[in-house]
Parts: sequence; structure tokens; C-alpha cells
Amino acid sequence: MAEFELRFSAAEIAARVDALARDIARKLPRDSLVVAVLKGSLVFTADLIRALSHHGVDWPMDFISLSSYGEGTQSSGQVRLTRDISEELAGRPVLLIDDILESGRTLAFAKKIFTERGASQVWLCTLLDKPTKRVVDLQADFVGFQVPDEFVVGYGLDHAHMHRGLPFIAVKK
Ligand code: 5GP
Ligand code: MG
Repeated sequence: MAEFELRFSAAEIAARVDALARDIARKLPRDSLVVAVLKGSLVFTADLIRALSHHGVDWPMDFISLSSYGEGTQSSGQVRLTRDISEELAGRPVLLIDDILESGRTLAFAKKIFTERGASQVWLCTLLDKPTKRVVDLQADFVGFQVPDEFVVGYGLDHAHMHRGLPFIAVKK
């Protein structure tokens, strides 16, 4: 598609997701709970749980929605929970999945509330990592790809609510 400049093809993503699932299946406890951050991690999570199944893992899952105040491609700093999970967290290991780790504020906030509710451990898995934009001291335990400081879309990631269904990750020209 002429409108987009490719960064990661569908085949590259599939291979990476399979490798991540293998790693996660080996390292996490059998009684883990998967929590996906809506909406950006929807496509990644859908592929990851099927890859996990392929590697012998079958975990319950739930969803949260988090929003940063503000619009556009710049997030504002304040994070709030707009949709909560219904699963009980006390004593449970959690795999928290997001689309991209940028400033780190979103996942730091989610990790903090899950820890406060008694999750035994919270692992962070992010499809993309933009380390140059980090504001809080946070690393993901599982990372699909590192990306430079450019705004990417596709494979769940949107720009103004569009392009989530693209099977690849790209920069819009
Ligand atoms: P942060 O780590 O800054 O708290 O938040 C990361 C969130 O900002 C992601 O979940 C995503 O919604 C959004 N975001 C950051 N960088 C990009 C990008 O390059 N493309 C898209 N589509 N969203 C981004
Ligand atoms: Mg997000």
C-alpha cells in the first residue's frame, strides 16, 4: 500500500510472536492470568494467545482500558482506568500485554494497581518498545521489536482510530 512505509511485515511479526510465546510459556507459572490493555493490544494478544496455546499454555484472560488525558499522538502524562478486569488478582501471577511501551506511564500505572491488589507478580509484555521516549524507569519483560522515535500504525495500533486492521506495522507517509 503506497500510503504506508513498511516497518515489520506480517511474516516477521508472526515469527516474532511465536518466539515470544515460546519464551513466555517457559518462564511463567502455570496459573497465570493474561490481561490485555485495550484497544491497541487486541490484534497482538489474539495472535499471542494462539501461539501460547501452540506452546502448551492455556490461561484465563481479561481486559482493561486505560486512557491518557489528551488527544493526538502526544500522551499527556495522567493515566486513568476506564475499564477494569472482573477477575480476582490476589496471589495470582499476571501477564500484562500492551501494544507499545513509550513513556512507560501507562504500563507503570497498570502494574502499580495490580501489585496493590495483591498480584503475586506482574510480567510486562509489549509488542513494541520505544526506549528513547521513556519517562519513567520501566522495562518490559518480553518485547517484540524495538522501534525508533517515529509514530507507527497497524497490527492493532491506530492513528485517530484508523488502521488497526492492517496486518503489518508501518509508518504513514
Ligand atoms: P506510554 O508508554 O507513553 O504511557 O503509552 C504508550 C501508549 O501510547 C500506547 O499504548 C499507544 O496507545 C500510544 N502510542 C505510543 N507510541 C505510539 C505509536 O508509535 N503509534 C501508535 N499508534 N500509538 C502509540
Ligand atoms: Mg495503548
